[in-house]
Amino acid sequence: MSLTGKNALVTGGSRGIGRAVCIRLATMGVHVFINYVSNPKAAQETQKIITDAGGSADLLAFNVADAVQAQNAIKGLIKEAGSLDILVNNAGITRDGLMARMKEDDWDAVLDTNLKGSFICAKAAARSMMKKRWGRIVNISSVIGFAGNAGQVNYASAKAGMQGLTKSMAREFASRNITVNAVAPGYILTDMTRDLPEEIQEKIKAEIPLASLGSPDDVAGAVAYLVGDDSAYITGQTIHVNGGMYM
Ligand code: NAP
Repeated sequence: MSLTGKNALVTGGSRGIGRAVCIRLATMGVHVFINYVSNPKAAQETQKIITDAGGSADLLAFNVADAVQAQNAIKGLIKEAGSLDILVNNAGITRDGLMARMKEDDWDAVLDTNLKGSFICAKAAARSMMKKRWGRIVNISSVIGFAGNAGQVNYASAKAGMQGLTKSMAREFASRNITVNAVAPGYILTDMTRDLPEEIQEKIKAEIPLASLGSPDDVAGAVAYLVGDDSAYITGQTIHVNGGMYM
């Protein structure tokens, strides 16, 4: 399906799931703004993959957890491009540790990036979408937000919070023809999970009915569906992309 003429911002689009989402949206005719915070080389690689395939993309560096930086960057994007039609809140980090030893900084960093960052970006993006009376917001949450996980109270809380954010925004923005949905990946092979010890990966696989970790493209497919016309009557929902590990 073609979304030619639409502009999308993918936070954390430089690597992993965000990169796959950027590439997928570009194949649908979308002009993609690739956000990153620390890794310009990876973001440039994503941009090159897109332009080599005939798509169009720009880079946009900012920290989603810094309200002033993020708002200014998104304002600038809207001014330059004319509109922001699609937002994928994908930027995320982990700072794992058992609760008894978890530092407040680790709690704050994960909540600020994953949850507050999504709120900040969505608030800034929604202005343009409301004006155009068309918009798509997709929040990348996680199976951990539904099932919980020892060693990830910060991450699980942030991702569970994104579910509340998704449903509340869906209700607030529906009258302006803006849909807001979430995609909750299970274990996907990216930099975030690559360093898990082999035996932990085997343990995880044993809990997955489809018996393998997912790929970033598996998640990108669900995002592509949620931004396209086929999902126009779907809002406030979550697509679980997890090989069946949580039903
Ligand atoms: P990843 O490979 O570690 O990539 C993280 C991306 O987020 C990078 O592009 C990074 O930018 C960006 N980022 C981090 N902090 C940022 C900030 N403050 N501002 C702007 N960008 C920031 O992660 P991933 O595995 O692809 O995960 C992507 C999303 O999916 C995350 O929200 C994650 O929680 C979620 N998820 C992942 C899995 C999984 O198994 N991998 C499962 C469930 C959910 P730089 O390149 O500049 O550092």
